[in-house]
Amino acid sequence: MREKFIGRISHIRLIRLIKNTAMTYTEENLLPISALQHLLFCERQCALIHIEQVWAENRLTMEGRVLHEKTHAGDGEIELRDGVRISRGLRLRSFRLGLIGIADVVEFYALDSPPGAWRPYPVEYKRGRPKPDACDLMQLCAQAICLEEMTGRAVPEGAIFYGQPRRRMEVQIDAALREQTESLCVRLRALVDAGRTPPAHYEKKCEACSLLELCMPKAAQGKQSAAEYVHHIWEAAE
Ligand code: SF4
Repeated sequence: MREKFIGRISHIRLIRLIKNTAMTYTEENLLPISALQHLLFCERQCALIHIEQVWAENRLTMEGRVLHEKTHAGDGEIELRDGVRISRGLRLRSFRLGLIGIADVVEFYALDSPPGAWRPYPVEYKRGRPKPDACDLMQLCAQAICLEEMTGRAVPEGAIFYGQPRRRMEVQIDAALREQTESLCVRLRALVDAGRTPPAHYEKKCEACSLLELCMPKAAQGKQSAAEYVHHIWEAAE
């Protein structure tokens, strides 16, 4: 219900907000790319982490963190393998989207022209399986947009490497995915700028949430509905 509500009110406002917020961010007010996943999973979780600075780990987040720490160990260092430049732990940012992050791996492929030019190809590592929603795709897309802004080169595709089963999935960074991702960035900014944490609503997914014990969704059901809360945020963002 909450997602339907957001979808219904968002279309025109999001396009307007995306246009209005082009190139408005600076180093001081960038948000982490990972916040997009938190937002898609649960607005309250996103607000707890990125507004209230609350964090707790469970087995899933710990395994994910260890995997990312291993892939980030290169800190942007570049190795050359079979003619492909491979950078691990490359720092990313986009002033247009207002995002900052670290890419697990970015491969650079030589272009025929202009001479000496390379096309970035981001590869994101995930310990589990492909998810039913598009959160992994949007995270990769955000990385691609960061790379485009940083290098001036188009990034039309990338890949996600899943641990279960171990396979690499190619992803087209197409117009639809870009629009979805940019819309999510605007929602993220609206949530953080509003500075208010949505009330808790217990759902099945809460059992997989690392903040379950801090959030206490069964005990702390708010009187205000999530739809009313989101509506308030959009009104404030206009
Ligand atoms: S426990 Fe549930 S409501 Fe609370 S932050 Fe996690 S997913 Fe959201």
